[in-house]
Amino acid sequence: MTQDNTPTIETPVLIVGGGPVGLALAADLGWRGAPCLVVEQGEGPADHPRATAINARSMEFMRRWGVAEAVRKASAPEDFPHTALYCTTLTGFEIARIDRPHHGGRGPTTTSPERAQRCNQIWLDPILRDLATSFKSVDLRYRWRLEELTQTNDHVVATVHDLARDQRRRIVAQHVIDCSGGHSVIRRQLGMTMSGSPYTGYFLSIFVKAPELWTHHGMGKAALINFVEPAGLWRNLVILDGRELYRFGVRGKEFYDAPEQVDVERMFREVVGKDVPHELLSVRRWVARNVVSDAYRNGRVYFAGDAAHLNHPSSGLGLNTGLGDAVDLGWKLAATLSGWGGASLLGSYETERQPVGRRNIGHADVSHQGDREREPPPEIFQDTPAGERARRAMGDAIVSSMTRKFITDGLALGYRYDPSPICCNEAGAAPHASVEDYHPNAVTGSRAPHAWLPDRRSIIDLYGRGFTLLRFGNATPDVSAIERAFASRGVPLSVETVTDPAIGALYERRLVLVRPDGHVAWRADALPADPAALVDRIRGAANSPDSD
Ligand SMILES: Cc1cc2nc3c(=O)[nH]c(=O)nc-3n(C[C@H](O)[C@H](O)[C@H](O)COP(=O)(O)OP(=O)(O)OC[C@H]3O[C@@H](n4cnc5c(N)ncnc54)[C@H](O)[C@@H]3O)c2cc1C
Repeated sequence: MTQDNTPTIETPVLIVGGGPVGLALAADLGWRGAPCLVVEQGEGPADHPRATAINARSMEFMRRWGVAEAVRKASAPEDFPHTALYCTTLTGFEIARIDRPHHGGRGPTTTSPERAQRCNQIWLDPILRDLATSFKSVDLRYRWRLEELTQTNDHVVATVHDLARDQRRRIVAQHVIDCSGGHSVIRRQLGMTMSGSPYTGYFLSIFVKAPELWTHHGMGKAALINFVEPAGLWRNLVILDGRELYRFGVRGKEFYDAPEQVDVERMFREVVGKDVPHELLSVRRWVARNVVSDAYRNGRVYFAGDAAHLNHPSSGLGLNTGLGDAVDLGWKLAATLSGWGGASLLGSYETERQPVGRRNIGHADVSHQGDREREPPPEIFQDTPAGERARRAMGDAIVSSMTRKFITDGLALGYRYDPSPICCNEAGAAPHASVEDYHPNAVTGSRAPHAWLPDRRSIIDLYGRGFTLLRFGNATPDVSAIERAFASRGVPLSVETVTDPAIGALYERRLVLVRPDGHVAWRADALPADPAALVDRIRGAANSPDSD
């Protein structure tokens, strides 16, 4: 208690916001045995659908936390195609079809032990909540709303309103992570700014139940259906469970401004092309912007997820980018609390994650405009040879320009932390440029690539708790000097020998050091001249008083 009788709670890490990013960060901290308190103003996970596309990298995180199978089970059925379909109406003309054969299902791909899944947040968030709260070190409080926050050099004081008891609480934390989404009170209080595209899109999101809708039309099953209409592309239908639940998206400021006046029933009938059994479950308004925070940190406060970047969901990058933020922060916070993280380890978060945010949000900005600017010629709606030609021409244009909107494996798996103050980046390494395709590589700063070990584990299953030093081949150098350097700084390290020459060729060096988040920190054919300097660099202690 303080003088004003406000109960005070102390926690090393306060996470504000129990959406998917806050829950994932809490889960990662719990998985590492690190303590945190999560405050969420809502009563529980959101009940209106938002994100559905969970990319392969996010599924790799789920695999590390042991919940990949739960996410797969909560996803659309294995055989449900992840196809993106463009048509005039569901009973009208097909314009284009982009298949994604390596998304969904359970078999591995050549680049990851996990496939992208379609698991909406209404099922994903409860999985993350149950995971986070399965760890004793995680304290999750629903109906606790952060009202204000002040910080000094060595701590942050937050005032939280316990809505159930109508009581104020004071929380004293060493670090605060703002995961409170696009309407963050913290950002407003700290005067944080965002930059990016001038675009603002206004939408209605309509949650619809229409059992086995595909049995009422001839287009077949598809995960995403974009409707090409005389007024352009302004409505879409997103399958949620592969059975009966959909998110019907409608773009337009006039609908956003007066949702109660929108005849949703008529709109749904229009895109289907006839009456089908259905039920409208809920309607929400939302605004899309493509902007990134100008800073990911303010003193002891860090910004992650939608509190750090906002984007149009067309390429399914918002939640996935946010999960990447959480994973980058998780091990750095845990290392800092354990004492082996150096003074500049947490500072590397912004250097590493802000460029990823900018790249992904930039892609989302371009890809959604591709649809917005598409104007269908009138004959496209006619059942004539000219109509057929127009549909084929528009379809070809959509497939050639829009495939990179729906297939973003290069963005999902190819992001690289370069430059990074805590990686020994390689001079002259070309960035991973492709959006659609991922080209496996182990260039420093990259996600260490997947390969199957002889015991049928993925090599990425070795990464996570501490650092992993990979020795490739049968005659690799003696690494005991590196092991001693790690031990002297208290940095967890395991050493693994990999003799498969194909994996050695993929990793390209005889020694490769992988961080707890699965990114390559350093690689070489021989021991570093100064192993202690290497350890200080990768733990964020280079040039700081706690290095020699
Ligand atoms: C229609 C739509 C479709 C989308 N589809 C995709 C997709 O397919 N793939 C994808 O990757 N992304 C998608 N996104 C984006 C995705 O939903 C967001 O990026 C994601 O929800 C961000 O998660 P978050 O945890 O950062 O923020 P949020 O989900 O916004 O969670 C923030 C939480 O903080 C809480 N909070 C706010 N203020 C306070 C406070 N003062 N005190 C306590 N708690 C507070 C809120 O109640 C909320 O629960 C979509 C978004 C929309 C709108």
